[in-house]
Amino acid sequence: MSDADDSTDQGDIESKEITIEFFGACPVCHRSGRLRHIGRDHWFYCKEHKVKWWGGSNLIRHEPMTADDVAATARYLKDFTEVAPYYPKGPRDGQARTRL
Ligand SMILES: [Zn+2]
Repeated sequence: MSDADDSTDQGDIESKEITIEFFGACPVCHRSGRLRHIGRDHWFYCKEHKVKWWGGSNLIRHEPMTADDVAATARYLKDFTEVAPYYPKGPRDGQARTRL
């Protein structure tokens, strides 16, 4: 896996409801983001609105990534603007995950 187009998306989380509640959603359209990993960091992004938000580190098990995978994903997400995600029920305590 070396390119970073949509065919390389690294798996969707199963329950969107839990995903949004826990990881937040796109602040523009309030839809759950797609997920990519950069090393141990989980990034969600909305392709339509060109935004991304950090979902935490080491929370989601995924296949080990090569340095090329990490670089390709980082390149792909570089053009997205980092934002604070939308939480349908508001952020939980200690869940202000944004790094802005
Ligand atoms: Zn959106």
